Amino acid sequence: MASVNLESVSVRYPSGAVGLESIDMHVDDGEFIALVGPSGSGKTTLLRTIAGFLSPTTGRVVIGDRTVAEGKEFVPPEQRELGMVFQQHAVWPHWNVGRNVEYPLRRAGVAKAERSSRVASMLELVGLAGYARRDPATLSGGQRQRVALARALVARPRVLLLDEALSALDEPLRDHLRLELHALTRELGLTVVHVTHDRSEALGLADRVAVLDEGRIRQVGTPHELVSRPTSGFVARFLSDATLIPGVVDADGFRADEHPLRIPRAGGMPASGRALASLLPSAIEVTSDDGGDAVVRSSLFTPEGSDLMVEWSGVAVRARTHGTRPRVGDRMRVAVREALVYPEEGLGETPPRDEAPDAAASERSTSFARA
Ligand code: ADP
Ligand code: MG
Repeated sequence: MASVNLESVSVRYPSGAVGLESIDMHVDDGEFIALVGPSGSGKTTLLRTIAGFLSPTTGRVVIGDRTVAEGKEFVPPEQRELGMVFQQHAVWPHWNVGRNVEYPLRRAGVAKAERSSRVASMLELVGLAGYARRDPATLSGGQRQRVALARALVARPRVLLLDEALSALDEPLRDHLRLELHALTRELGLTVVHVTHDRSEALGLADRVAVLDEGRIRQVGTPHELVSRPTSGFVARFLSDATLIPGVVDADGFRADEHPLRIPRAGGMPASGRALASLLPSAIEVTSDDGGDAVVRSSLFTPEGSDLMVEWSGVAVRARTHGTRPRVGDRMRVAVREALVYPEEGLGETPPRDEAPDAAASERSTSFARA
């Protein structure tokens, strides 16, 4: 196993498109990190840069204690000792399962007897004992992804890289494989970098999650830190469906533009100026009230209560309620229990580099204010 380090890594495509912009990221030996972000945010670019399919335009990539990319220095992918699984096309259809899994060992020149025993034990590990002679075409999508995983792991890679490896699968198979992936990688103590656009998958699986946007890391932290202390409105909205409402801050606190939301001044709130209030669904209370200034626009059932979109004085607000499921068209009253207030110019910013994420969170972002 090994750690992974990216230092000021930027990637620019020949077309001029920015793939990554000055990425600093450290993955500990044995850590499971998830990269999440909207489509086009740079997740695949980051993974391919670690793998060696892309060369950084500037910066340095280190795996374990070995620099694998910096300036003219470049270690090709097959010498980086990594395992990789992609969303699809991961298994060669003209080879049987055993041959597929065996391939990295053949290439490494491992003797035949050892190859067979390692393939057998790897297939057992991913729940496919006895499948060595099967034609991949006869397998389900989930079984094929397990073959891909076995092939990625058979040569005992230093790091496992997964790019949307579960995304093509349907529930409940996907959920099942998610659990297996977690159990397997934790048992083996593997260093994992897992790319997904699925935020609940990222939060559910990883020790730490990095949120990407436009080639930059907006925040890195434990799942708990990211949902309880997002350092930007972007992260709050992307991970937790926060509603963002623009306004101004002065000595009294936050006042929304053309909207009744007011948040009294609290520690950590920006001193003054344009600002953005972020309301987490869990911090909003909506109650049925014929004289209320909000109307239910959608009301979805979830086992944890109703998932609502209410229009509150012209702003669409995501909220959760327990108890009786409100109906579309019902009038409601909205109370905001807590809100985070961010300086508006902080929207596109990443925390300063020399600050720990936690320090950045408490200093820049903001306050949990009671409204
Ligand atoms: P993600 O995996 O998060 O969806 P990507 O890493 O694929 O994002 O893309 C990041 C950015 O780089 C996007 O703006 C995308 O258009 C651009 N990009 C990705 N691959 C290429 C390529 N081969 N040539 C040019 N631009 C690319
Ligand atoms: Mg991608």
